[in-house]
Amino acid sequence: MSFDLIIIGAGFAGLTTANRAAELGLKPLVLEASREELYPCNSRYSTGSCHVAFRPPWTEPAELTKAIIENVDGAAREDLAIAIGDNAARTIDWLKAQGAAFEDHPRRTDHMPMLSPLREMKAGLDWEGGGANALLHKLGQQLIERGGELRRGSRAQKLMLDDGKITGVEVITDQGAQTLSANAVVIADGGFQANPEYVQRHIGCDISQLQRRNAGTGVGDGMRMATGIGAAAVGLE
Ligand SMILES: Cc1cc2nc3c(=O)[nH]c(=O)nc-3n(C[C@H](O)[C@H](O)[C@H](O)COP(=O)(O)OP(=O)(O)OC[C@H]3O[C@@H](n4cnc5c(N)ncnc54)[C@H](O)[C@@H]3O)c2cc1C
Repeated sequence: MSFDLIIIGAGFAGLTTANRAAELGLKPLVLEASREELYPCNSRYSTGSCHVAFRPPWTEPAELTKAIIENVDGAAREDLAIAIGDNAARTIDWLKAQGAAFEDHPRRTDHMPMLSPLREMKAGLDWEGGGANALLHKLGQQLIERGGELRRGSRAQKLMLDDGKITGVEVITDQGAQTLSANAVVIADGGFQANPEYVQRHIGCDISQLQRRNAGTGVGDGMRMATGIGAAAVGLE
């Protein structure tokens, strides 16, 4: 079975990529490792505050880019910081067009947008009635309406490579391993913050002192798969 695009991970990054690809006429498949309908991911647990380096997205793009670079002491890649600055306001408009609802941040006076319904600013797993959960649901539904596909219980485990070109993904499901081909693959697996070995290796902090604040689903599969076919990890210092 062949797809225009396979996306690994059904959080905001993956579902946004898939919906935009479908809008542009491609046939995307999203693979999600968890089986549950309300599969856990960092996006679902998010408070939904939409800022760029703590500035509202419709701030002057050059100011956003400068703020990103200054906030990370110059470690940001300039082309990416410019892309985020230039596209921040447009991203919120696009999300609104997908049905995302926003309210002003309750504790700020600059109209910083937050996904609606708002969650209380307190610790706890009260995500079910929150705007982030509602938006994930909408993006998943719209993907299907646009002719895309979302497969839960499908954990990508290997990138297929032929003559230096990615040709697809090996995926593990309840039925066993399967190879799916695609013209392109996007890794949107949420990173590696739930993988103590990777956190120790790449961030270098004492993991015994860390409290984890995440969904536990970002276990570094994307990084493992990419480095497994020869990609270099850069900028992790
Ligand atoms: C409590 C909390 C509050 C937050 N509040 C905010 C906020 O107010 N504002 C803000 O901007 N950010 C906030 N964040 C951060 C934000 O939620 C994340 O940065 C964002 O949601 C990450 O989205 P993602 O799509 O990259 O990853 P995720 O949402 O984590 O999605 C990745 C998906 O990939 C799947 N996956 C992993 N490996 C595989 C594999 N091998 N095969 C298939 N699927 C795989 C996972 O199961 C998961 O569903 C918050 C985060 C948390 C935890």
